[in-house]
Amino acid sequence: MRITGVTTYLMQAGARPDLMRAKGADADFRGSRNWLFLEIETDAGVTGVGECSGWPRVVETAVQDLSHVLIGQDPARIDRLWAQCYRAIMGHGLTGTVGSGALSGIEMALWDIKGKVLGQPVWQLLGGAIRDRIPCYGHAHTEDEARWLQGLGYTALKTPFTGIVDLDRVARLRDAVGPELDIAVDAHGPSWMTPSDAILVGRELEAFDLLFYEDPVSPENLDMLARVRDAVAVPLAAGERVGTLHGCRPHIERDLVDVIQPDTGRAGGITQMRKIAAMAEAHGIMLAPHSGSLGPVAEFAALHVMATVPNALLLERIEDDWPGRYEVVTPVLKIEGGALALPMAPGLGVELVHEAIARFPAIRNVASGPPDDGKAYVPGTAEEAVHVQTRRSRARSLRP
Ligand SMILES: [Mg+2]
Repeated sequence: MRITGVTTYLMQAGARPDLMRAKGADADFRGSRNWLFLEIETDAGVTGVGECSGWPRVVETAVQDLSHVLIGQDPARIDRLWAQCYRAIMGHGLTGTVGSGALSGIEMALWDIKGKVLGQPVWQLLGGAIRDRIPCYGHAHTEDEARWLQGLGYTALKTPFTGIVDLDRVARLRDAVGPELDIAVDAHGPSWMTPSDAILVGRELEAFDLLFYEDPVSPENLDMLARVRDAVAVPLAAGERVGTLHGCRPHIERDLVDVIQPDTGRAGGITQMRKIAAMAEAHGIMLAPHSGSLGPVAEFAALHVMATVPNALLLERIEDDWPGRYEVVTPVLKIEGGALALPMAPGLGVELVHEAIARFPAIRNVASGPPDDGKAYVPGTAEEAVHVQTRRSRARSLRP
């Protein structure tokens, strides 16, 4: 069998940026971003599907460049093809998450082909399932959202902020869901968050018995994360913005996190995810793949990984981000009892719905800020003002 072609599908997910501020815009639309899917075609009529993140429009070009490495080759030789693609991007400086984003979707699609040819779900080829259901955590900003997730059976939720953590919100969520549900806080590592401020916030968070405190500082300087780790008695999570085993190595090797969060669309592929998980396992670190901006194909891929690694914690899942999530692939994953069941079909178990994807052409490559809902990056709010405020103002924002 030989690879005959690679086709990319770049689409707009979430609210269209030109409509975001329109009166009456669908309240279910939150944010806007590109999703990039790809298909690898073969001369045997078997097609593999994958998904890439890491700046989708740029990654699309990378995938198209790498198609010249793939066409004519045997799709069964996954690790060899991955290494050939990796070598091909060396000359471009490896390109970080763009390069590993391209590798992710390509490698995922090769596994899909292998599973379809062998008539087995990918998890079966990775050593078999350790677990049949993958527990997930959802996102909640309000008590109503938290109770809704709880009603769906979720046992864990995460509430997102941008550096400044509203401790009252965390307290309200805890009151709303009771003591049994796990709560995580994502600070999104804004560039203006100093380690000392992140420590101040982290110490306040110790009272809430959190599942984890995610990206307390920006990811560019891991020494800052080390300062937070040394000063705060809350489990830390990070890793969504780096690619491959090499990107996650310092987080794990230095024991900077309790939870490593590779993004399935830019970690470098299924095997890279498993290598990251294995390295983390040796450090007592759990795996909780990032999915915040990803589409549904990567979610399927994450299930196959999480079924087969012992230290899988939870999969991130944004349950209600955009109705189109449930239109562009088949079948659709459905949460039951706070978990997703393993796909049983050969390969990844998911196919693109091309007509639906075509209805959402890519418009903008970089997501807009959210509408004026007070969540993040809004001019004139405390979130924005901390960029320029002196210590007294910052302290008031951080500790209201
Ligand atoms: Mg995050």
